Amino acid sequence: MIKIENYIDGELVTPINDRYLPNYEPATGLHYSDVPESDASDVQAAVEAAEQAASEWARTPAERRAQYLWNIAEGIETKLSQLAKAEAIDNGKPLSLAQTVDIPRAAANFRFFAHAITQFSSEAHIMEEVAINYTHRHPLGVVGCISPWNLPLYLFTWKIAPALAAGNTVVAKPSELTPMTAYLLAEICIENDLPPGVLNIIHGTGLSAGVELVKHPTVKAISFTGGTNTGADIARIAAPMFKKLSLELGGKNPVLIFADCDYEKMLQTTVASSFRNQGQICLCGSRIFVERSIYNRFKADFIARVKELTIGDPLLPTTQMGAVVSEAHQQKILSYIRLPEGGEILTGGDAVRVPGRCEKGWFVAPTVIEGRAYDCRTNQEEIFGLVVTLTPFDTEEEVLQYANSTPYGLAAVVWTNHLQRAHRVAAQLQTGIVWVNCWMLRDLRTPFGGMKNSGVGREGGFEALRFFTDAQNVCVHL
Ligand code: NAD
Repeated sequence: MIKIENYIDGELVTPINDRYLPNYEPATGLHYSDVPESDASDVQAAVEAAEQAASEWARTPAERRAQYLWNIAEGIETKLSQLAKAEAIDNGKPLSLAQTVDIPRAAANFRFFAHAITQFSSEAHIMEEVAINYTHRHPLGVVGCISPWNLPLYLFTWKIAPALAAGNTVVAKPSELTPMTAYLLAEICIENDLPPGVLNIIHGTGLSAGVELVKHPTVKAISFTGGTNTGADIARIAAPMFKKLSLELGGKNPVLIFADCDYEKMLQTTVASSFRNQGQICLCGSRIFVERSIYNRFKADFIARVKELTIGDPLLPTTQMGAVVSEAHQQKILSYIRLPEGGEILTGGDAVRVPGRCEKGWFVAPTVIEGRAYDCRTNQEEIFGLVVTLTPFDTEEEVLQYANSTPYGLAAVVWTNHLQRAHRVAAQLQTGIVWVNCWMLRDLRTPFGGMKNSGVGREGGFEALRFFTDAQNVCVHL
């Protein structure tokens, strides 16, 4: 049985209380490793280590910090197969997805912010002959990063890399459901001689370790990705302590399909945007609105494609859909499908039994439902997996009303070849991200984040570096 360890002050250590939680492989339902159930004392040790390392790391020239990040990126790439397999086992996602998306993106995060910090600059404001103001961007000191289970290493490193690049030291907590690749990242940091205390990784639940990190007075900022309710809990603790907060929260993303779209590309991409990673990507589109003139054609073609998806052992190369992350999550998904809200289940609708090694795994069939009202719970609450609804529409106004009707505002997808409509609709969507005729196409320089209950603040590019620094204006009288 693998025993995962915390990474504090440059070393792998057991939790002080010696308590562990079972970690399961979703595809088999088996307990296969133990994860520390860290508490306040481990958080304290990690914060002390980070505090000790802070001033030297902040003084380390940006180019040198960038070199450390670059080396970690290379370390991730060297171990790509090991990390991808670990991610697939820990999360239930297809190995092919971890190999081509999760792990390469984790390396790209470090490499991107290694470059970015060497190009980061600040402004000067000149008051003619009177004075010159310049903005000095200081690292914050010790910052906390908390990430979810759906894209474990991908999202963990998306926070850690800019925080370190900007000169902060970090205490980070991955999800207790998917701790394995964060543990392997600690080994990579050790192998690449990252100075002790610069990055510390604490494992444990939100209530035992996450809350302690959020409320620690030395921690100056919290960068969090996870559920909207958790985000609200964190804000309640952090706001009165005047911590900087970046909250990337839930979504209920609409897909707007107009009859004039590039049909084949739309169809193929919509299957992916609905079900990639078992629909457990915050950017997946779960409410599909289709212009009435192509509704029946789309419905038939979409269902046919969804039925072709191969569900199975995540470790097999032929698998397109793996397991969902936990039994509790499987039950949550099924409970939404079974809500007495009318409509018809066009395909899926139940758990799936995968014979052999994965017989006891937590699988759900990709599910398509039509005929549920746009304002019912299925269409308003975040399910976060494998369930999409189809709804026809007649006019732009109508579909915008449906699209904007939820409390969330993370991402939207628009399919149309009508130039003016594309821009007009994009501008009226209340989401932080709009994809037109594509999905999940990411340029890491762009601002990333949600409107409404999908979050506060933006990640990505210089937005992240600004978040992880404090701006100081220096006014020099001339
Ligand atoms: P979650 O909120 O349950 O947990 C996220 C992380 O927070 C975990 O590490 C957890 O241990 C920790 N945590 C839980 N309670 C805490 C507390 N009170 N204080 C401090 N830390 C706490 O979310 P999840 O179930 O792991 O992830 C799924 C959610 O994440 C979905 O809502 C999804 O939309 C969202 N998500 C959002 C984005 C985005 O970019 N907006 C990306 C991925 C996932």
